[in-house]
Amino acid sequence: MMWAATFFDGEEWRDGTLVEHDGRMLVRDEPPAPGLPRLDGAVIGGFTDHHVHLQLVDASLLDGSRLGRVVDLGANPAVLRSYVGDGRFDSLRSLNDREDPRSLSEERSDETKRPFPTTSDRGHDARFDSLRSLNDRESPRSLSEERSDETKRPFHTTTAHGRFDSLRSLNDREAARSDERKRPFRTSTVVEYAGAFLTPVGGYPSDRSWAPAGSVREIATTADAASAVAEMADAGAPCIKVASNSTAGPVFDDDLFRMIVELAGRRGLPVVAHAEGAGEAQRAARLGATALAHTPFTEHLTDEEIAEQAASVSWISTLAIHGDPERTTAIDNARRFVAAGGTLHYGTDMGNGPSPVDLNAAELSALREAGLDGIPLLRALAPADPRDPASLLLLLSRETSDPFDARPLKV
Ligand SMILES: [Zn+2]
Repeated sequence: MMWAATFFDGEEWRDGTLVEHDGRMLVRDEPPAPGLPRLDGAVIGGFTDHHVHLQLVDASLLDGSRLGRVVDLGANPAVLRSYVGDGRFDSLRSLNDREDPRSLSEERSDETKRPFPTTSDRGHDARFDSLRSLNDRESPRSLSEERSDETKRPFHTTTAHGRFDSLRSLNDREAARSDERKRPFRTSTVVEYAGAFLTPVGGYPSDRSWAPAGSVREIATTADAASAVAEMADAGAPCIKVASNSTAGPVFDDDLFRMIVELAGRRGLPVVAHAEGAGEAQRAARLGATALAHTPFTEHLTDEEIAEQAASVSWISTLAIHGDPERTTAIDNARRFVAAGGTLHYGTDMGNGPSPVDLNAAELSALREAGLDGIPLLRALAPADPRDPASLLLLLSRETSDPFDARPLKV
């Protein structure tokens, strides 16, 4: 069965052909043949949440959500990576049938619901690969399988993260899958993670009750920094998360911050900074961060500062985590940042307080208040390229409809 269909290629709406093949729907970038029936609605790839914390939510809920990709900006990398083992294996295997590494991840379910203090301490990290991969999105794909039973993982997650690790992990795969018995589980959500927060000794969020064990690396020296960056890079992180919150403890001095940026750069990784406290957003941008994990909310930036931000870093929105007055401040900064040509990515800080493990209506609403709607809003959501057969496909009732109304496209 084939249909003429409008689809979003990541930048614009285009006309193509939707094909049902082996029980799946595929988008082909081919002009529809004359006379084909037209799909009622428009096709868009799964959306990206550029700032999540999977250890603080029930990540199994990603399945069936409208999220095609999530970027974890602060977690114990060993925990996230443990979920990736099988996925990496599948990634390799699937190299044969497709060009993109895919992954399978697994998930478990049952118990779930880990207690998490819904603290609303704003801020965590940021990340970046999303940003980077916006450009070359060869969208890593993932399937995941999950294991279950015994294990006792503190929570379930669906990590896929095919990307960098795909090949590397061939060797450890046996080890990774070892013991537990898993039951097959598939998710189409790609999971990427920055790994731990890098922060000074005693720095944010090292003292926070919500910070999972192993999710913070306290850095005192250049050697510490080199070790932490190497650890995250080896774990497959697409970016390095640096905390720079002067309201909650010490922050890196300029030299050490720059050194982390340089060390990360040697591994090809951008730095995403949690900048909080007077002047921290400007300082992080000046010292070489590539992205801010949060729209600046501590202070109203001047127009000149906004222009500098727009020219040097991208922002991840996270507007809806705040109450006033920070919310108003953040939205005003975001509005002027976007108007100045800045790149604002959709991100919710999922896990910071009660969070839907899906698209977040409150964040979408706040982005509209900041002036993003229509195609610019869709771009901020970084939907997967629906021409990639691995992409989660969503159906909108029409091109101009609310992304929140998107639903998985069924055969
Ligand atoms: Zn965060």
